[in-house]
Amino acid sequence: MKNKVKIYDLDIEYEVIHRNVKYPRLELKTDKLCLILPEGYNDHEKLVYKHKNWIYKKISIVKTSMDEAKNRSLNLKRSEDEFRAFVMDYIGEISGELNVNVNKVRFRKMKSRWGSCSSQGNVNINSYLRYLPSKLIEYVVFHEMAHLIEMAHSRRFQNIVSTKFKNHEEMEGELLVYWLLVKETILPAS
Ligand SMILES: [Zn+2]
Repeated sequence: MKNKVKIYDLDIEYEVIHRNVKYPRLELKTDKLCLILPEGYNDHEKLVYKHKNWIYKKISIVKTSMDEAKNRSLNLKRSEDEFRAFVMDYIGEISGELNVNVNKVRFRKMKSRWGSCSSQGNVNINSYLRYLPSKLIEYVVFHEMAHLIEMAHSRRFQNIVSTKFKNHEEMEGELLVYWLLVKETILPAS
């Protein structure tokens, strides 16, 4: 069921899905808002109203990033092999700098994250990163390697990332902009 709501200056469409869940929840996939509601729960307007500031903030960021994406382009020249070699070289360099050991590196096409890591020292890198500028690839790899020292996104973690990327918030913003571009141009074809 599609619904519309206006929050401040934004017209927002959202979908209501009834499912066998205990509590209502809001999900945002890129710019698509979805309300997952328990069977029999029908007051979705009240729920939207209650969370209107959160919804507004999240959707505004995505909309701004979509506009920004028009001023960026993907690197279509870097091959998968070149990309992997680039990542492995950088991991080698940073392992020494951070004094961490990476166990295994896996490359996977992922749709919800650029990278992840485990406490066993395994690092997963999103293959779609190959279309991004080198600096952003380095940022994602460095971010995951910093997690080998500190798992949480704590102050300590931010400090480690800041040693190399003073502008890490800007980097996070760029990653969203580029993700929107990948989603629009690469995903439909792959
Ligand atoms: Zn992280």
